[in-house]
Amino acid sequence: MAVSNIAVTHAKNGVIEAEVVSARLISPHFVRLTVAGDELVDWRHLGFDQWFRLAVPVAEGTRFDNLSGTYDMAGYLRYLTLPRATRPVIRNYTVREFRPETLELDIDFVVHGDDGVAGPWAGSLPIGASVGLIDQGCGYQPVVADSTVLVGDESALPAVLGILRDLPRDTRGHALVELGDLADRQEVDAPDGIDLHWIVRRPEDAPGAAALEHLRQLPAFDGSVYAFAAGESKLATGARRHFVNERGAPKGNVTFCGYWRAA
Ligand SMILES: Cc1cc2nc3c(=O)[nH]c(=O)nc-3n(C[C@H](O)[C@H](O)[C@H](O)COP(=O)(O)OP(=O)(O)OC[C@H]3O[C@@H](n4cnc5c(N)ncnc54)[C@H](O)[C@@H]3O)c2cc1C
Repeated sequence: MAVSNIAVTHAKNGVIEAEVVSARLISPHFVRLTVAGDELVDWRHLGFDQWFRLAVPVAEGTRFDNLSGTYDMAGYLRYLTLPRATRPVIRNYTVREFRPETLELDIDFVVHGDDGVAGPWAGSLPIGASVGLIDQGCGYQPVVADSTVLVGDESALPAVLGILRDLPRDTRGHALVELGDLADRQEVDAPDGIDLHWIVRRPEDAPGAAALEHLRQLPAFDGSVYAFAAGESKLATGARRHFVNERGAPKGNVTFCGYWRAA
C-alpha cells in the first residue's frame, strides 16, 4: 500500500480459496465478480470497508495452497520465495457484498485499462477461475465524533458505499465520491443525515483534485469530525492534510489510505 495509517487485523483462517461464478460489467468502468465456494463458510464478515489480499491467477497451475495465511511482512517475504511460475499476483480489494446464506462474495473492480494485472484480469470476465482471499479487516476505525466525512475515488467506491450501508442510521455528515464518469454511480444505502456528493473529474484534472476542491468548499462541520479518505495517494494524503490543517481535526480522527498511485 502506498500511504496509510490503517491497522490490519488478520482473521485466523488464512487463505480462502474460491471460484469466480459470475462476472459482469455493471457500469462503463466497473466489473463485478462474484466468487463462491465452501471455504467461505470461514469468512470473517465485518462489513464496512473490509478488505483482503486477492491472489489473482496469472498462469495455468497457479497455486494458492502455499501462500502464507497472513500477508504481513513475514507473509510477503515468504511469498517472494515462491516459484514465480506458479505464484499468484497479489492485489488489494474490498468486499462489496458478502452473502453468508449462499457463501458468495462480490468484488467491484475498476477496469482502468490494459496496465496492471487485477484490473485487466477482471475485465476478461474470468468465470471459472480460482482465486485466494486473505482477510485484512476494516480500515474504517471511527472515533466518537459529531460528523462523519468519507472521501474517495472510484477505487474506494466499494469502501465508501460499504461504510454508508453499515453506519448507524443516526450518523450525520458527508460522503464524497469522485468519478471520471457519472455513469459509474451505484445505488446507495446511506443514513438520512449523510449528504452524498458525486463529483465528476474533468479529463485534464489529476485524480482526486476535484474531490479535494469540493471538500474545501464544504461549510463548517457541526462539532467534531471523524474522516475516512481513500483512493489515489494524493487524494488520501491531501484529504488528511485538509482535515488536520484546515478543519482542526486531531490526527487520530482521520483514517487515510492510498489505494493506488497515479503513474
Ligand atoms: C485497502 C484497499 C482496498 C481496495 N479496494 C479496491 C476495490 O474494491 N476495487 C478496486 O477497483 N480497487 C481497489 N483498490 C485499489 C487496487 O488495489 C489498485 O487499483 C490496484 O493497483 C489494482 O491493481 P492492478 O493489477 O489492476 O494494477 P497495478 O499493476 O497495481 O497498476 C498498473 C497501472 O494501473 C494504474 N492503476 C491502478 N489502479 C488504478 C485505478 N483504480 N484507476 C486508474 N489507474 C489505476 C497504476 O497507476 C499503474 O500505472 C483497493 C486498494 C486498497 C489498498
